[in-house]
Amino acid sequence: MIPLEEARAHVLERVGLLDPVEVALEEAVGCVTAEAVTAEDPIPSFDNTAMDGYAVRTADVAGADESSPVRLEVVATLAAGTGDRPEIGPGQAARIMTGAPVPPGADAVVMVELTEAAPADPEDGDGGVLVKAAVPEGNHIRRVAEDVQVGDEVVAAGTVLTPALVGVLSSVGREGVRARRAPRVGVLSTGDELVTAPTPLAFGQIRDSNRPMLLAAVADSGFVPVDLGTVPDDETALTAAVRDGAARCDALVTSGGVSVGDFDLMKQVLDGLGAMRWMQIAIRPAKPFAFGLVEGTPVFGLPGNPVSSLVSFELLARPALRSMMGHRLLDRTRVTAVADVDLRRRPDGKTHYLRVAAEYRDGAYRVSPAGGQGSHQLTAMAHSNALAVLPDGDGVPAGGDLTIIPLGEVPAAG
Ligand code: AMP
Ligand code: MG
Repeated sequence: MIPLEEARAHVLERVGLLDPVEVALEEAVGCVTAEAVTAEDPIPSFDNTAMDGYAVRTADVAGADESSPVRLEVVATLAAGTGDRPEIGPGQAARIMTGAPVPPGADAVVMVELTEAAPADPEDGDGGVLVKAAVPEGNHIRRVAEDVQVGDEVVAAGTVLTPALVGVLSSVGREGVRARRAPRVGVLSTGDELVTAPTPLAFGQIRDSNRPMLLAAVADSGFVPVDLGTVPDDETALTAAVRDGAARCDALVTSGGVSVGDFDLMKQVLDGLGAMRWMQIAIRPAKPFAFGLVEGTPVFGLPGNPVSSLVSFELLARPALRSMMGHRLLDRTRVTAVADVDLRRRPDGKTHYLRVAAEYRDGAYRVSPAGGQGSHQLTAMAHSNALAVLPDGDGVPAGGDLTIIPLGEVPAAG
């Protein structure tokens, strides 16, 4: 048996980087940038108001307060988007809406809540505005380049694009970006015993859980799933399916046929098609694993037991697929948790990954087993939201600390 780290390193050394492509912003979230993006204009590109109110000259309102408001003549109404630049003279103000340019002559904005309409003037008819507070120079003005200066690198190469970064790219005038897109990952199940869902089962047959599950895992991780169907335990058929899939996809994930049974043919198949390494990894579940390159396309040969398949995908295929698209953070976040019950095990030279239910309670993540821990017992995996990492040894007593890998949202109790 080899340590998981060795298997992981073997795989990561052999998967390449996908070529960057031009990705439209609408499709860019989750992609990893392959260029640095700099700003050609400042943001904001003009002084503008952060509030609805009045653009004023601070000197005019210096003495204003609730009991002695200052009356100003309102010479313009400025909405966001206006190109108007009316000069504000002494004793004057402009009604101004959030985002509108601050007009020349004005040096502050008084928010509308600190003003009221002045009673109509008997001479000119228009009442103007009563300002009921003094404001400092620059009040509520968003200055040119306060967010971004010309030449600023707003997105570095190798950045995972979040919704906010997509917004930043749009704000500097980009409609697309050079990025590495998600790999197209072909998924196929192997096994003579497999039938697809609606067919009645003959004795000895089972339904295929791995292919739909792994297609979902691929999609859930942000990659593009490609369904390559179910293939019997036949070397010729398997060889054809793997060769065709490898030609059509950036990577393949297969399940079954990597163990030591008489009909576990994936090893021979991958050997015949290119460089392959078969590994026995010191983990439970998911000990057997095969990794091959078929015409340069990585093939992850996962074990057939459904829990093993998914754990193997998590620990080996997912980080490698992320690496192909340029991610630097390959693994899921790990956190420390407290065992709610005894999590006992026997020493066997392996690290165990238990399927657990985690919740955040009384200031800590707390875990208990999510059900039966057999590698065929997929329902426990389905009801879990984390893997608990139990290093070789006797396990962890109730109340003890351990490392967990959350695979989904962790609810907070109480
Ligand atoms: P294998 O790795 O091919 O030796 O399969 C190990 C166990 O997993 C056997 O009990 C298989 O029947 C089962 N198995 C293999 N492939 C699948 C699948 N796609 N869906 C559900 N169970 C599977
Ligand atoms: Mg099999």
